[in-house]
Amino acid sequence: MLCLGIETSCDETAVALVRDGRLVGQKLATQIDVHAVFGGVVPEIASREHLRVLPTLFRELMEESGHAPEDIDAVAVARGPGLLGALLIGVSFAKALSLSCNARLVGVNHLWAHLLAPGLERSLPFPALGLLVSGGHTHTYRIDSPVEFELLGKTLDDAAGEAFDKVAKTLNFPYPGGKHVDELAQETEPDRKLFPRAFIDNPSLDFSFSGLKTAVAVHVQKHPEVVLPRMDDVDGASALGALLPDAREHVARICASFNWSVADTLRIKVERALKKTGHMKGLVVAGGVAANTMIRETMADLAQRYGLDLVLPGPALCTDNASMIAYSGWLMAELGLQHDLNLEAVPRGRVVPMDWHTRKAG
Ligand code: ATP
Ligand code: MG
Ligand code: FE
Repeated sequence: MLCLGIETSCDETAVALVRDGRLVGQKLATQIDVHAVFGGVVPEIASREHLRVLPTLFRELMEESGHAPEDIDAVAVARGPGLLGALLIGVSFAKALSLSCNARLVGVNHLWAHLLAPGLERSLPFPALGLLVSGGHTHTYRIDSPVEFELLGKTLDDAAGEAFDKVAKTLNFPYPGGKHVDELAQETEPDRKLFPRAFIDNPSLDFSFSGLKTAVAVHVQKHPEVVLPRMDDVDGASALGALLPDAREHVARICASFNWSVADTLRIKVERALKKTGHMKGLVVAGGVAANTMIRETMADLAQRYGLDLVLPGPALCTDNASMIAYSGWLMAELGLQHDLNLEAVPRGRVVPMDWHTRKAG
């Protein structure tokens, strides 16, 4: 079965083709540069960019993979969560294509797709504990199969990725700053007393990162010398490179200490979730923040201690892409699941419903 995946939930426009669980080809256009001047994603601009580039990306993918639209058996699309206007571009495109090519339509939960993505690289163990750490979400799930996700814990305020990006902004790093915090954090040892690990002295599986972000901001206010000059260019590598050794050491210490607080909070909550679920076979860590070096090491250590099969996607599969949508859609289509043209986009803050159109496909 040939499944096309479409991703337009935020600031990446992407298409990919998966045949029988294997990636055939993919195209991705990021809007990072377009939004960088605003320091964050502007929803209206994101929608317009998706509309502008999606048809071209699709045409290029078909040409380069040597396929005609009629070859497509299923069209999978990220239906949410995400920005409503951005999602609607992908969902409308998917509906029109599925109708004109007589292909099945499959609406995919973008968050589940992040966690299923590593199935493109290796087989997934079930049941698994899933940790999704991305720009908009911090979720733990019990995952029993590709369509059975039980939400165990979630963030009460900022997502882990948001905390990374806001700390980076406080330090005047280029946008989006998560990966720069990661890089500098590797240059020194964390001071484990410097920043709090919030919301851990309770039995809850939920997370809170906004206090940690504020603690970093307060620390930086007291040490204004660590803030980089404001940068107009999005690259910014030169400004980071120009830091004098003393200042660099200080900035690196902030990054390492903040990163450790996030990593250790995630460890505590995942361990707590594991105690609640009982025996799991695997630990799946996904989403953009799963690219973080210290978090990968922390989770590797945890998986080893609990005898869990650790599943970590490669860095390109961590952040938004359409391969994960095509792969998830293919899994669901293989199970006979599909949607009809009433499929709705589901924005942030709403739970993505399991409203399959029940007629078995095929
Ligand atoms: P969501 O999936 O919740 O809708 P999103 O799709 O915008 O959000 P992703 O693309 O999964 O989020 O991840 C982007 C986030 O990952 C950003 O916050 C970015 O800073 C962060 N990130 C990327 N690389 C790293 C890294 N090496 N260390 C820490 N954070 C990182
Ligand atoms: Mg993105
Ligand atoms: Fe995402």
